[in-house]
Amino acid sequence: MLEIKDLKKHYIIGEQTFTALNSINLNFRKHEFVAILGQSGSGKTTLLNLIGGLDRYTSGDIIIDNVSTKNYKDKDWDAYRNHRIGFVFQNYNLIAHLDVLSNVELAQTLSGVSKEERKRRAIEVLTRVGLKDHMKKKPNQLSGGQQQRVSIARALINNPSIILADEPTGALDSETSVDIMNLLTEISEDKLIIMVTHNGELAKKYANRIVTLKDGLVTSDSNPFEVKRKDRLENTVSKSSMSYLTALSLSFKNMLTKKVRTLITALAGSIGIIGVALVMSLQYGFTDYLNNMERGTFAGLPLQVSRSYIDISDIMMSNRQQLNPLPPIEGGVLGYEPEVSRGLSTNDISEEYIEYLETSDLNQYGSIVYQYGFTGQYYYMAGDTLYTNPRSQGSLGSSGRSYVTQSAYAYEFVNDFFDVVHGTYYNVDAHEALLVVNREHKLPKEILTFLGLPTDQVVPFEDIVGKEFKVYTNNAYYTYNGTQYVPKNTTNNLEDLKTIYNSNSSDVITVRIAGIVKTNTNLVQVNESIIYTPLVATDVLAKNNVSDVVVAQRASETSVIQGVVFNPLKDKEDVLYELGGIDLPNTILIYPNSFDDKANIVEILDAYNEGLDEDDQINYTDNVAVAVSMIKTVMDSVSAVLVAFASISLFVSSVMIGIITYTSVLERTKEIGVLRSIGARKKDISRVFNAEAILIGFVAGLLGVMITYAIIPVINIFLEEPTGNSNIANLFYLHAILLVVISITLTFIAGLIPSRIAAKKDPVVALRSE
Ligand code: ADP
Ligand code: MG
Repeated sequence: MLEIKDLKKHYIIGEQTFTALNSINLNFRKHEFVAILGQSGSGKTTLLNLIGGLDRYTSGDIIIDNVSTKNYKDKDWDAYRNHRIGFVFQNYNLIAHLDVLSNVELAQTLSGVSKEERKRRAIEVLTRVGLKDHMKKKPNQLSGGQQQRVSIARALINNPSIILADEPTGALDSETSVDIMNLLTEISEDKLIIMVTHNGELAKKYANRIVTLKDGLVTSDSNPFEVKRKDRLENTVSKSSMSYLTALSLSFKNMLTKKVRTLITALAGSIGIIGVALVMSLQYGFTDYLNNMERGTFAGLPLQVSRSYIDISDIMMSNRQQLNPLPPIEGGVLGYEPEVSRGLSTNDISEEYIEYLETSDLNQYGSIVYQYGFTGQYYYMAGDTLYTNPRSQGSLGSSGRSYVTQSAYAYEFVNDFFDVVHGTYYNVDAHEALLVVNREHKLPKEILTFLGLPTDQVVPFEDIVGKEFKVYTNNAYYTYNGTQYVPKNTTNNLEDLKTIYNSNSSDVITVRIAGIVKTNTNLVQVNESIIYTPLVATDVLAKNNVSDVVVAQRASETSVIQGVVFNPLKDKEDVLYELGGIDLPNTILIYPNSFDDKANIVEILDAYNEGLDEDDQINYTDNVAVAVSMIKTVMDSVSAVLVAFASISLFVSSVMIGIITYTSVLERTKEIGVLRSIGARKKDISRVFNAEAILIGFVAGLLGVMITYAIIPVINIFLEEPTGNSNIANLFYLHAILLVVISITLTFIAGLIPSRIAAKKDPVVALRSE
């Protein structure tokens, strides 16, 4: 039972107030077929919209089953529309992208009815309106009369008590109109039907009550109804709401009708995702590659403690001083005493330090190689020719690097990173050496010359392996001329050197070349040379330490060697190191057993420095860490730039998706009106469009990730050459999932404003739009 009390509706247009309804008083019976007649503009539609809760009245009251609607909130009106009202429109207002069945079911999805029940009900009402065989058709595949029947079926599905029909036959021919009127008459047996029409004939023939409106006033009522006063009841209408799943399926079906557009939108949206995905895959791959290298190959490289080393931070500091000079002296210049700089920082590798290393757990985590600073004297004699100390060409007059040196490698390192070309590895407990050649089996001519071998033809491996050369200690190399010690090779004492070579003098150590080796990795830079075991070095050192020249030099504050003069860059200590008069290493190399052991080693090295003055601290260099961190820094800054670009495209595509969602809102305005008329809340409308944005975001993200996975193999082909790794670009699947989530989130955010606009649309205006 419906009562309308003193109902008024004013429209405010600018400054003016327009009265569309002026104090309407009408009561309706539970079951009757009421026709409202009136000229165009008399307020019929306005009245219907107020009764249906699509529009709000200015004053008065609508009382439904004894409940006043004065205090109704939006959600009460929504629920009221969903449960109590069925709308039938002149232009049917079916949703074009849904089939007949779904159009009818829609109102039930809002009232939370199960899927099976929904379908059963929909089929039932469709059967009732005679459309059982057309359920799978789209609205545009039906005639006008059929469409209106669908619209009536939709109005009936929630079994409402009131059907509001606004000119339901207005767009139909007279024959079809009769069919619809018959249907409505049938329905009015157990429902209240309020039908607006300007067809008086039809009204008289079918309706059992005719109300005439003119200029917003009731001018006649053929069968008025008086209500006895009763107590008003509280509102008991249960709520209506749309689940996210319904919203998603509604948007999904809508997007299916616009497949090409959806795909293009998603494709455009995916570009930003592809950008970010590629950057991520490259960065992930590179980081992984570097970490593996550090963990694997690089882990074999040593930490280094040197008596003198280049401290980059020191250099940078002095540069900074130059960059920030003190204010200049005014009116003149001032002399100062320049600091003597070796250009190097120094570590005081002392006996205590060696002791510390040896007694620590360090040997558990890696192997230590001590290198000594003595200048080695190497000789090889073939026939009557004495060959000596092969050196590389030094730049700017310096003597260059010796091609014969103590091995700087731990034995395990040699094992891991060198392959034997011929012979065997050296035995660390013997006076043995390895000849290191490059991967092409080439080596500097000087080395071949040293071994008395030809340099203009291929030398068979067998001619080298097994050869022996000799290391001369100080007593064999220096001769005393009464005042100074003189290197024998600078005087006419070459014969003496030859004699010693062939004698069994204990002042000479014989070293055997055990094998020829080459590296098996391009990650370790190895110079071609003859490398001998540390045992050779320590034995030479032991002899040199007690040699005549060393004993004499220790006792003298001036140089005892001919041709050597002390200066700030080469003082007594330096000379003693060169002579082997100090049995401390000038370089300590520590080879970690594994990447994890390296951390333990670093801890031990750092522990030594704790509580010591800066001058007494011993610093190590970790060339691997420096190199890796440098590469990482470069990589990070490059990817930061790329990420910035990708983010911009991500932002642009988000804005675009926002615009497209807005376009969709404009296109689906009528659908918004229909949804509201069947009881959808504002929240439900925004859900529909949020769902659309989310779907686009999902498709865009998925496309982006898929395209990235398709591009990655191509990128890897290009990266294989410079990196030697065929799998650098690599999109981690968790990152892929994250990107899809990001895409959904961004489009969701981008769609928020359009979906709010949609939710705020006035349903009356929305329904009127075409
Ligand atoms: P009918 O359905 O009887 O043709 P309506 O109820 O649609 O008439 O309109 C009644 C009057 O209210 C008309 O004069 C119309 O111009 C006016 N009207 C309807 N809706 C609005 C609106 N949103 N703003 C201003 N005036 C309106
Ligand atoms: Mg109208």
